[in-house]
Amino acid sequence: MNERQILMIPGPTPLPAQALRAMAKPMINHRGPEFGAMLSEVEERLKQVFGTSQPIFLLTCSGTGAMEALVVNTLSPGDLVLSCPCGVFGERFAKIAETYGARVERLETPFGEAVSPARVRQRLDQDQAREIRALLLTHNETSTGVQNDLKALRDAAADHPALLLVDAVSSLAAMELAMDKWGLDGVASASQKALMAAPGLAFVAMSEKAWSAHRQARMPRFYFDLSTAAKFRDKGQTPFTPAVSQLFGLRESLELLFSEGLEACVARHRVLALATRRGIEGMGLSLFAKDGAASQTVTAVKIPAGLEIKKFREMLRTEYGVVISGGQASLENAIFRIGHLGHVGSQEVLITLAAVEMALHRQGLDIALGKGVSRAQNVFLGKSVETPTPSLA
Ligand SMILES: *Cc1c(COP(=O)(O)O)cnc(C)c1O
Repeated sequence: MNERQILMIPGPTPLPAQALRAMAKPMINHRGPEFGAMLSEVEERLKQVFGTSQPIFLLTCSGTGAMEALVVNTLSPGDLVLSCPCGVFGERFAKIAETYGARVERLETPFGEAVSPARVRQRLDQDQAREIRALLLTHNETSTGVQNDLKALRDAAADHPALLLVDAVSSLAAMELAMDKWGLDGVASASQKALMAAPGLAFVAMSEKAWSAHRQARMPRFYFDLSTAAKFRDKGQTPFTPAVSQLFGLRESLELLFSEGLEACVARHRVLALATRRGIEGMGLSLFAKDGAASQTVTAVKIPAGLEIKKFREMLRTEYGVVISGGQASLENAIFRIGHLGHVGSQEVLITLAAVEMALHRQGLDIALGKGVSRAQNVFLGKSVETPTPSLA
């Protein structure tokens, strides 16, 4: 493997050297005091990243497991759930709820657009009987490069008792998140995206309201039962053997995140996204996400006519050491995606854009070399006349 590969996919993301080194530490007793101290240190920091004073539970699984944990800990079979998918990950959230017997209604949004708060409000207003028990929301829809305005969605649901369950896997640390202030009831995330840690750890937090729902919730659960997790958390432990090495790494990544500062980290991601978008447009390519809905962590690009996407991605990887993602599901032949989250900066974005230009040129597209790169350079130099994607603050 080329050690200098530039990994520009929306997770897993590149690991900082401190995290890599920490993962090589000798094993410790997961029921001993060193582990307890590490768990609470990591939890305290994650609380700040989530914007919550609620406990955060560390699960050994990928992000999907944390989404499943939210569903099975708060709902019962037969519950009506309003899912708001605008891409593959929103659809996954809906499928999890269906698998456990929820009646799932989908408020569909065309791919490339953000979920409309007005439509959510309209549907909830129709629910006079207050039957809808939960809303399933995706903070950042990684498959389409779209971010949803969680605050506006919460406001749209303010008069309704439904729980707001949020997949924040690809947004956490890269986009503003204020779980308590925004009134979110369940938030799920994972280690391998903007947190700059290795895959294998996931996190969930729940509001008081979600905890009272939990006490009535009848969906089957064992590995992800948060009542069990809460008992062990009080002892500085997890119910089952956790991914200790990943946690060593995560602790270092959080150290790095906090030395940068949470706000600075979000601002960095905003600039990386803007530079990527302007760079892509500068090449004459089209962005997939509608303006104003564009993600801060992943940019989806329409595949231009005449480009063989497989050959293009293969050339990027083998000749320029740049790895990007294709489209998922129905978007497989429609878009490619550039991840710009976690331990990445202007360096990686500029190299990626330059390599994309060269690979497009060599694949026979009529590309004026340097146009995308120079647009991105202007963004990084603060000379871009365009205003950045508005913050969701
Ligand atoms: C990556 C991701 C997930 C979780 O995927 P896993 O492979 O289970 O970690 C969930 N939602 C979104 C939006 C994601 O980007």
